[in-house]
Amino acid sequence: MITASHKQLADLLRTTDAERLETLWREADTVRQANVGDDVHLRGLVEFSNICDRNCAYCGLRKENSAMPRYRMTTEEILDCARQAMDFGYGTIVLQAGEHRSMKADWLAGVIRQIKTTTPLAVTLSVGERPAEEYAQWREAGADRYLLRFETSNPELYARIHPVADGTLADRLDCLRVLRELGYETGSGVMIGIPGQTYDILARDIEMFRELDLDMIGVGPFIPHPCTPLANHTYTNDKDDRQVPNSELMTYKVLALTRLTCPRTNLPSTTALATLNRDQGRERGLARGANVVMPTLTPKNYRRLYEIYPDKACFSETPRAYHLRLQQHILDMDRTIATGQGSSLHYVNRKQRGRYACPA
Ligand code: SAH
Repeated sequence: MITASHKQLADLLRTTDAERLETLWREADTVRQANVGDDVHLRGLVEFSNICDRNCAYCGLRKENSAMPRYRMTTEEILDCARQAMDFGYGTIVLQAGEHRSMKADWLAGVIRQIKTTTPLAVTLSVGERPAEEYAQWREAGADRYLLRFETSNPELYARIHPVADGTLADRLDCLRVLRELGYETGSGVMIGIPGQTYDILARDIEMFRELDLDMIGVGPFIPHPCTPLANHTYTNDKDDRQVPNSELMTYKVLALTRLTCPRTNLPSTTALATLNRDQGRERGLARGANVVMPTLTPKNYRRLYEIYPDKACFSETPRAYHLRLQQHILDMDRTIATGQGSSLHYVNRKQRGRYACPA
């Protein structure tokens, strides 16, 4: 683990020096290989509902976006995706959705139980902030992991992009603490280039990854959605040069610095990154610190409706065509495709030490 100071992190985030960047990519790749090896873990992503009660200023699923038709997949449709995940040799299924309180905890517990009794898959949930009892119920039903991004470490910026009624950064961090105490392999992360995000804030985000002792970290560029309050944000009028751009390069920098800061975590090369560079984004992410890819298994008719941001990569291909292409790209990079559930080594080490509780 590097213990770069706040200033060093902020400096590296700002650098445009080609040599320093080459060194950063090389170090991130070396640390990735030394700590988590050449395996790339594939997670089958199922976006099972786009119904959402929240009004996050950045997200196309926000409740007030009435232009978006809403859907919810049935248990049987989700189980079909689980079978497809097994068929492709994936070790994990990720069940993600908008945050809708009308989704009954009992129903999701039933889905988890069925996946766990009929497949060898690890189950990752990503359904937002819910009461501790529900997190506990899902854990008992067999859920292994939970993803909940804190989005930004800065409480004021958090409040600017989330309505007060939807809760505070402290509430989000509380959820992460509960998840961790329940024994979930816990993931979080941030968006890069949200309007109002400065280099200092982003450096602090990376420090927070370390302090939260996360097992999985997802970072991706903010991509404006036309039906949200942040639709028309541009980065050109930032005279004091403090605003972080939502660029591909910035995303690689954050990925690389995250790998150096949290060497044994699982880091995905995200779909948002692949959306900025369809030809190379996924692979470059893997070459600059990432060791996970989350191909979507969401059926095609629903996929275009899970529009958290527009023009998402891999809209048009079938899951099988994408799977085959992705596999080939990974092998072409001299990387290997992981088998088994692929827990984060950070989590495995943490469990061996019996440390479920949050660090002080
Ligand atoms: N309801 C779930 C899943 C949300 S979507 C939850 O609350 O966790 C998953 C992630 O997509 C969010 O955490 C956010 O970081 C990211 N996201 C949302 N809108 C985005 C946008 N416009 N651009 C890039 N990423 C976005």
